[in-house]
Amino acid sequence: MALVETLKKVVDKTIENRKNDLNDISQEIWKNPELSFNEVKAHECLTNFLEKEGFTVSRKTPLETSFVAKYGDCTGGIKVGVICEYDALPKIGHACGHNLIAEAGIGAALALKAAMDSSKDLKINLIVYGTPAEEGGGGKCLMLEKGVFDEADICMMSHPTPVEISTPIWLARIQLDIVFHGKTAHAAAAPWEGINALDAAVACYNNVSMLRQQMKPTNRIHCTIVDGGERPNIIPERAEMCYYVRSLSLKDAEELSERVRACAHGGAQSTGCTVDIKEPAPRYDAVRTNPTMIGLYKKHAQSYGISFEGEDEYAQKLLASTDMGNVSQHRPSIHPCFKIETTAANHTHAFTDATGSQDNQPPTLSSAKSMAMTAIELACDPKLMIKVKEEFEKK
Ligand SMILES: [Zn+2]
Ligand SMILES: [Zn+2]
Repeated sequence: MALVETLKKVVDKTIENRKNDLNDISQEIWKNPELSFNEVKAHECLTNFLEKEGFTVSRKTPLETSFVAKYGDCTGGIKVGVICEYDALPKIGHACGHNLIAEAGIGAALALKAAMDSSKDLKINLIVYGTPAEEGGGGKCLMLEKGVFDEADICMMSHPTPVEISTPIWLARIQLDIVFHGKTAHAAAAPWEGINALDAAVACYNNVSMLRQQMKPTNRIHCTIVDGGERPNIIPERAEMCYYVRSLSLKDAEELSERVRACAHGGAQSTGCTVDIKEPAPRYDAVRTNPTMIGLYKKHAQSYGISFEGEDEYAQKLLASTDMGNVSQHRPSIHPCFKIETTAANHTHAFTDATGSQDNQPPTLSSAKSMAMTAIELACDPKLMIKVKEEFEKK
């Protein structure tokens, strides 16, 4: 126990000493918002930083904008995976605060490295994963397929939100791209000769709206009409919709997506269109939070003055999805949400302002420290690590 206390001082001191560097990383990413699989500057910024800090960095591994960086090679040490995200959203920038996720991950990594350097008794092999395209494309799912997470014993990341939730309920998610095909006609001269693909999309939209009445309260379905035709005077021959279908489990999401498919076929049939339905992105699984790991995270977060009051109620309200779900089904993981100062929800302009604000450095740094301490406690007490693995095996 004495070792944990000593190392906690190292963790706290390291993050306090490096807070300007960490803030710089976050600002650099925030000022240069990049979309899924195009996170070139963020990839550059993070890999350069880690290399300067003495990590062995594999750039563009296994994807063009992902990376794997390692430090330490002690035998018998636990392999700690720390995950950074850094993609932004179209037009609204870092409205999900992935710049702060990257900062918290790098902060935790710096603190762990300093703790490892300060004590030979701390047996950790550290792996920092740079994971692109969380907001669309499922970078972690693709990285999982390439096996890069196989070498970690545990994985950790944390996410900014307007509330503090240690164990969020993150839903499984299936994306459906639905394309209707009809036939053009002059909309005034001979509309009866056309087959209206936009009408099929509208019928589908309305069918899903009716379906919503019969859904479980934890299910979510939402869409955008990506293509609704060119000009009012041309009957649209093509319409495209993008749906996200979310449920508590992947099995439920599959059942629900079958019903959405039926809504699309109904729209096509009633308008005389044909329809193609594709799943263009990997399915996001629900997040499994490891109880022992999150217990340690929470204990340390509380020691930094973080309050988890009302978190169960918040967890019921804040439903979202993440490709970290897939990682958490593969390795014992945590994905807590840390509160930043804002009343706005994620994916809004106001949240973008908050994630770039200096006011939200302290909670990001506390989360980084808490992640580092979670790994240190597990490395210092083999019994805890056994418990983590037992909990994970109990599906
Ligand atoms: Zn988001
Ligand atoms: Zn996010």
